[in-house]
Amino acid sequence: MTDAFTAPGRFFRGNLHTHSTLSDGVLPPAEVCRRYAAQGYDFIALTDHFIGLYGYPVADTRPYRGAGFTTLLGAELHSGAMANGELWHILAVGLPADFAPGHAPDFAPVEGQETGAAIAARAAAAGAFVAIAHPQWSGLTLADARGIEAAHAVEVYNHGCAVGSDRADGFGIADLLLTEGRRLSLIATDDAHFTEPDHFGGWVMVKAEENAPEALLAALKAGRFYATQGPELRGIALDGDAVEVACSAVSTVIVQARGSAAVACHGAAMTRARVPLGRCAASPWLRVTVIDAAGRRAWSNPIWR
Ligand SMILES: [Zn+2]
Ligand SMILES: [Zn+2]
Repeated sequence: MTDAFTAPGRFFRGNLHTHSTLSDGVLPPAEVCRRYAAQGYDFIALTDHFIGLYGYPVADTRPYRGAGFTTLLGAELHSGAMANGELWHILAVGLPADFAPGHAPDFAPVEGQETGAAIAARAAAAGAFVAIAHPQWSGLTLADARGIEAAHAVEVYNHGCAVGSDRADGFGIADLLLTEGRRLSLIATDDAHFTEPDHFGGWVMVKAEENAPEALLAALKAGRFYATQGPELRGIALDGDAVEVACSAVSTVIVQARGSAAVACHGAAMTRARVPLGRCAASPWLRVTVIDAAGRRAWSNPIWR
């Protein structure tokens, strides 16, 4: 199977979760796109809140595509209640511009609206890459997450949630779902509203042959990407009883697996590491985290064995 490191093409940097004045962000779509392009991103998805309060926006960012910068159409979908009674937040990237509204008038669940699972399934059927947004911020239970059968991914790091509530994590839920055999990928995003320093903190590096919406979307669905706050992952390969990792200079390389299994290598400015599997050897899945000297992380997608 080709992964992000063996697939042809190059890596493109993208933010999959962003808001604008079409919902509760403070910058207009053109300025959001300009700032991301200026910051060196290759693409973004503007994902405004798809509720009646804002007229169910699927932001048309096509006018802001240009040389070296493209966009995917998307939205943050809301419908149905989680176990805690609050409204679902589900990220959909690669939506058609005419994705049909359901019945979600505002940020609270209402009687008779489709469930979170149903709107996620409808988005996936319409061609979108679907991710369970900010699990920790939402107060998501494992049963909630398990119910979103159409999800391709879990948002494991949400920079806005880190900055605004110190609840950035999605790995707790993601690792449990992986252990149940769910073949999910792992995304880091900004969820930028530009209301606080909630931008340029977490992104995906997507391997594709061209920086074009269709190619990027296909690579996202195939899991040919990694998530990062800065460090680069350059190669990950299973070799016998170890994982070989190549990366930009980091201080720590960790292989994580089912349950409590994890093996860490520590060093200075490491660009290669051979991490013995140890207790990870019995797990059907592995993933890799690297941490640089400034504490910034990059996270691989799961590797299935
Ligand atoms: Zn949200
Ligand atoms: Zn959001």
